[in-house]
Amino acid sequence: MSDLIHLLPDAVANQIAAGEVVQRPASAVKELLENAVDAGATQIKLIIKDAGKTLIQVIDNGCGLSERDARMCFERHATSKIETANDLMAIYTLGFRGEALASIASIAQVELKSKRIDDEVGTSIIIEGSEFKSQTPVSTPEGTSISVKNLFFNVPARRNFLKSNSLELKYIIEEFLRVALVNPEIAFTVYNQDRILHQVPASNLKQRLVALLGNAYNQRLIPVLQESGIVNIHGYIGKPEFAKKTRGEQYFFTNGRYIKNPYLHHAIENAFQQLIPKDSFPTYFIYFTVDPKTIDVNIHPTKTEVNFQDIKSIYAILHSSIRQSIGKFNLTPSLDFETEPSMDIPPLPKGAEVKQPTITVDPDYNPFEKKVKPQYEITLPSRGKGSEEQWKPLYDPLKDVHFKPEVLPGEGQEIQHILADWDQDASLKKQIRPFQAQNRYIISATQSGIVILDPQKARERILYERLLSSFENNQPSMQHQLHPQTILLSPEDFEMTMEMIDVFGKAGFGIREFGKNTILVEAIPADCIEENITDLFENILEGLKSGTDDGKTKLHIRIAKSLAKNMAIFRKPKLQTEEMEGILEQLFACKIPDLTPDGNPTMIFISFEDLNKKFK
Ligand code: ADP
Ligand code: MG
Repeated sequence: MSDLIHLLPDAVANQIAAGEVVQRPASAVKELLENAVDAGATQIKLIIKDAGKTLIQVIDNGCGLSERDARMCFERHATSKIETANDLMAIYTLGFRGEALASIASIAQVELKSKRIDDEVGTSIIIEGSEFKSQTPVSTPEGTSISVKNLFFNVPARRNFLKSNSLELKYIIEEFLRVALVNPEIAFTVYNQDRILHQVPASNLKQRLVALLGNAYNQRLIPVLQESGIVNIHGYIGKPEFAKKTRGEQYFFTNGRYIKNPYLHHAIENAFQQLIPKDSFPTYFIYFTVDPKTIDVNIHPTKTEVNFQDIKSIYAILHSSIRQSIGKFNLTPSLDFETEPSMDIPPLPKGAEVKQPTITVDPDYNPFEKKVKPQYEITLPSRGKGSEEQWKPLYDPLKDVHFKPEVLPGEGQEIQHILADWDQDASLKKQIRPFQAQNRYIISATQSGIVILDPQKARERILYERLLSSFENNQPSMQHQLHPQTILLSPEDFEMTMEMIDVFGKAGFGIREFGKNTILVEAIPADCIEENITDLFENILEGLKSGTDDGKTKLHIRIAKSLAKNMAIFRKPKLQTEEMEGILEQLFACKIPDLTPDGNPTMIFISFEDLNKKFK
């Protein structure tokens, strides 16, 4: 019998490795940028087409490759960066596995052009799916240019697995930021579809942060600096009053590499505790320098997780240096953000000072002025098929907008019952007016039972269906702003907004680009009651980012969900009777009144039959 075991061909081994190293275009971007940094470049260009699905190109002015090295670098475990396993412990440079280029070349069409400073001509190599196509001399500037075309062209399953362009681009920008934030002395330019996304000159760290995040950050950042035998810490944190509603701006770097560390993250959250609202996130850019012998970096293939030997001490040092920085900049907390009436006050952390309470007074408060302004306009849509028939032919419906509401199997029978009741009930409604319990629930009766509904959940459903119909008829109802507001976004959020600007428009947002990472909001959806547009918008983006992008749910549905959720929040929980009636009326006019867009109940129904049984 013949032997069964054989070695995998290199191309296959590379593809397997690629599964680990290159999950998506952003991972290739990371590897190529890190190589360019390692090559000692002072200028790096990143060029992206179709979120990296068509092209990723990195051009650097670094040391370049010899003719032989240009071939060698695509071999598996080919690296100039380590020779022995011991080197692994002391490595300061970024790449060290010698796997990236071999992996990338196994799943894409790669063209490398490179020239060293002393060489007369450069060399060009084309390699596709691990197969060498050609190597020729070329005239090319000093440094290296690598183009990665049609990523996953030979692994269709992986290609289909990629997410929408806006999401893949967001991942790419995130990788770029991680590299750019740790190499302020290198100039970077990023192009997306021939448009410049970022152009940052060589600078110091503070200037780099401001260049990437926007001028407003000049005023928002506080330096952090702490040297000790165990760890040196430097960087910046955001002043507490600028804490974000989105999680984006939180970065740790160790010895020049972006890392994640939930434990150390907790040290910062803890230091900010009680200084920022519960639903906000502190901004931080913290750089650790430790003796490389005291960390283990090789525990994760994408190398963002790092084990520190003395993590407990680092936690304590980090926590105290953050507290110190906040203290030094004399930032007495202004605790005037809204808190829930029954908020639990957490015990003071050990060693924290007890501050004298302060009282905020509203100088404009006039007890004689009665404000009974309704929280939003109550427009009562006529319900039933008739109305649909009336409006349908008036508009040119969007072809791809055919939403199928997600009904849970088995649901919907009881609600038909209630709905029928509700229709017959016009006279009854007038007699029994709904009332509110606990400043929250609306309680009302129909002929066959009692309805208890959560107004916020109900409003989510109402707004969701309205948004979907305004997507469909392409006639959003907008409120134009007297004072259009500018919002400074993080680069990724800005890019995401620009990608979605049309869909936002159909939802009723009038948004324009307004300088670097800044948008101008000229109109908001008519149903919107939120006054703080910045908060609203940041929450919507956060909802879009944290919501599941399964690649299938249409963008407009995801936007409608996130918008509905954020617009549904009531400014004042106490509702007027007319408002309650309006909500009931509008909810029952919905296609799926009993569930929120996410499938949670909006109401509970107790039939009189069940009630009677209880009183037997
Ligand atoms: P690693 O970075 O882990 O060594 P890579 O597969 O990313 O492995 O790269 C292999 C080798 O190719 C590197 O060690 C380096 O010598 C060379 N190389 C890659 N990119 C560049 C570049 N932009 N400029 C110069 N040399 C490069
Ligand atoms: Mg590398």
